[in-house]
Amino acid sequence: MKTESEADMELDSLRQEVYDITREIIRLAAKRRDVAIKIGKIKTDASLPLNDIRVEDELLKMVIDESNKNSLDPQSGIWILSLLLRQAKESQRREQNVETPTAIMTIAKNLEEKGKKLVRLDVGETNFEPPTSAVNAAIESMHSQKTHYTVARGIPELIESIKRYIQRRYSFNARDDQIVATPGGRFAIYSALAYLLRKGGSCVIIDPSWPAYKQMVEHLGGRIIIVSTELEEEWEPSIEKVKEAIKPDTRALFLNYPCNPTGKVISKKKFEEIVKVASERKVTVISDEIYSTYSNVEVPSVLEYELTNWLYIGSFSKAWAMTGFRLGFAVGNPELIKEMVNFMSLAMTSLPEFLQYSAIAALSSEKEVERNAIEMKSRIERACEELDRIKSIKYYKPDGGIYVFPRVPEQITDFSRRLLEEKGVTVVPGISFGNYPNFFRISLGNSEETIVDGIRKMGELLR
Ligand code: PLP
Repeated sequence: MKTESEADMELDSLRQEVYDITREIIRLAAKRRDVAIKIGKIKTDASLPLNDIRVEDELLKMVIDESNKNSLDPQSGIWILSLLLRQAKESQRREQNVETPTAIMTIAKNLEEKGKKLVRLDVGETNFEPPTSAVNAAIESMHSQKTHYTVARGIPELIESIKRYIQRRYSFNARDDQIVATPGGRFAIYSALAYLLRKGGSCVIIDPSWPAYKQMVEHLGGRIIIVSTELEEEWEPSIEKVKEAIKPDTRALFLNYPCNPTGKVISKKKFEEIVKVASERKVTVISDEIYSTYSNVEVPSVLEYELTNWLYIGSFSKAWAMTGFRLGFAVGNPELIKEMVNFMSLAMTSLPEFLQYSAIAALSSEKEVERNAIEMKSRIERACEELDRIKSIKYYKPDGGIYVFPRVPEQITDFSRRLLEEKGVTVVPGISFGNYPNFFRISLGNSEETIVDGIRKMGELLR
């Protein structure tokens, strides 16, 4: 046995070694960052994209090989690589000063502040009213002191209501440990990613896509792998591309049908193929189905499959027109849901108690959901009729959702900005959803009259 002083000496020497290794790692990290900045500058000067998946793939492969050779858990290697890639991207972006698509929204806000009346076709919410029963439930609950913290998952009555809802809609019998109520679908997605990307990794996103997916993955230090889809292919994701996109570090794959912004709904067969590929590779399928009540075709759901790693995202925002209530829910595998409940507890304590009663009331008032869906169907028809009059515009007629995503001819640059400045119509530029510079998103959330007015103004600009 070692004496105390012998042990002390040995520990001192090992501590020195740890200290030196850590210092060396920091020096190397700084050196790596400088090289990354140089690469970033060269790419910017040559107008090349900053992200290069091929290079990242090679690095990932090397890291896994090297981890194995050195008896380091490959997951730890992936974690370290995630940090290094994040550091490189952040420094490159800082140097680059990239312009964001929100610039156009800032112009719109300034114009409105100066009293200009705009035709708003950019907003991602409907002008429908929330169910009266949901409003009353909140008021009555407040009067009866339902104004306290609750359990983080959501009160048992709400969990029961969600269970009944998904059983009615999907014949899926969920257990309590598969459900969590959240402040909107957005929070549900973020809390899932916070767990899935806790040690880095990548997520596969099918573009065009809701910008928040990428923003959240980046915020959590994950890598983004894009599967792009094209208007000419009716926004169909190719299964080969999906297979190729899934890497050894991939933690999640997003599906969003009906899609924001395209309105596409893929077939059950395609959905099944994608879900199978993801599942074979142990990738969590995050199926964001918040627009599913707005559809003219059958919408496939992740709840129809028996998967090991999966997450269904639901929301009261669109179907019930309750965006400002901030209410949503997720149904998924118990391991993931448990972590999401922990995150709820950590970041929110719980949903406001009185609003949980609104959610219960909404879940039992489906006539408003049907009414909203019928109205949206008519808006889609009307918007398409108007768009068809503009010969230079091409688009996919939405299968569902609350948006249309048209394209203007290539030679017309900056259409969204010109539409705002010259005609006072706001839309969201296509670059917000991926590499779609000639596209723009029209929201059908406003009245039919406003939509028609806005589209006619587009026609005037394109004449
Ligand atoms: N998912 C998609 C595709 C969306 O478009 C939105 C909002 O626009 C959300 C999720 C988030 O909705 P909420 O957080 O209001 O439930």
